[in-house]
Amino acid sequence: MDPAPARLAVAVKAQARALGFDACGITDASPPGSAPHFANWLAAGHHGEMAYLARNAARRVDPRKVLPGLRSVVCLAVSYPGDHDNPPPPPALRGVVARYARFTDYHDVLAARLRDLTAFLNGLGGAEARSLWYVDTGPVLERDLAQRAGLGFIGKHTNLLGRTLGNWCLLAEILTTVALAPDAPERNRCGTCARCLDACPTRAFVAPFVLDARRCISYLTIEHKGPIPLELRPALGTRIFGCDDCLAACPWNRFARAGRLMREHTRADLAAPDLIELLRLDAAAFKVRFAGTPMARAKRRGLLRNVGVALGNLGDPAALPALRQVAQDPDPLIGEHVRWAIERIEAP
Ligand code: SF4
Ligand code: SF4
Repeated sequence: MDPAPARLAVAVKAQARALGFDACGITDASPPGSAPHFANWLAAGHHGEMAYLARNAARRVDPRKVLPGLRSVVCLAVSYPGDHDNPPPPPALRGVVARYARFTDYHDVLAARLRDLTAFLNGLGGAEARSLWYVDTGPVLERDLAQRAGLGFIGKHTNLLGRTLGNWCLLAEILTTVALAPDAPERNRCGTCARCLDACPTRAFVAPFVLDARRCISYLTIEHKGPIPLELRPALGTRIFGCDDCLAACPWNRFARAGRLMREHTRADLAAPDLIELLRLDAAAFKVRFAGTPMARAKRRGLLRNVGVALGNLGDPAALPALRQVAQDPDPLIGEHVRWAIERIEAP
């Protein structure tokens, strides 16, 4: 066997570690075996409004269509602090934010490191080398590739988890024309466990490994642009951006150790935001408050919609004055959710 791919793989992994990535594995260019599963999921409409998933499905199931001449995929993970580092919010008029979002936007944090690692890799590969890096942004089935690269396995909750990474990890990858020695794939280690499926407050799992995004609080509070379905609003509780319940339920978290990188970018002000303060943000104040954070993605209208649901669920009359001020917001989406909250609080 040509010793170069093995030597280059060792060098890339060492550089990834030096840049702050907590795990790095390598897989080859072949299409992931999960293509039929992905096609069935799309056909069932479980992707909701995420139309881009269907639009680029043909490329997504075959990374060779993303980068012609592809030889290897470098899969990377960064783990972020779990519950022990970020205690749950106090029972006041405060919202719950998914743990990954309580940091500077990881896209920005990882992008600089991915650029450096890609330049390093191209330097190893010589003048002909070409590489593309992605952090969430690429048309690739990154969890499947990461499992094949040995980083961890896709749990019944459909996320990647690692034996030492646990569930609190962010993924990125570099597609490259440089040949690197692949790692051994990881196998699923869920066994008979079903804790994540049982933990879901909206019953979003159609079956193990099959998530109906349209019922998932992460989707509803972040990706979904319209009204939150009435029947699901109570189950949102005080979650205003994302949901961690299925991840938190997983017993593999016991073995997880958070890495250094994201900890350095903690945004303590995002752990349990004051719902009344959020309700009072106008468009300009929203931009300032959430610039450079994952929560900017929801935009003011999405976040205030979620805040309305959370305050309605809390049922505390102390929120009524602030809610009444926003009840006629020019954005009808916000107005409708805020009026729903008022009615719920005032209901006998
Ligand atoms: S993130 Fe929350 S709502 Fe979505 S599947 Fe997991 S537990 Fe259910
Ligand atoms: S909670 Fe259990 S079933 Fe779900 S991903 Fe973890 S090990 Fe698998």
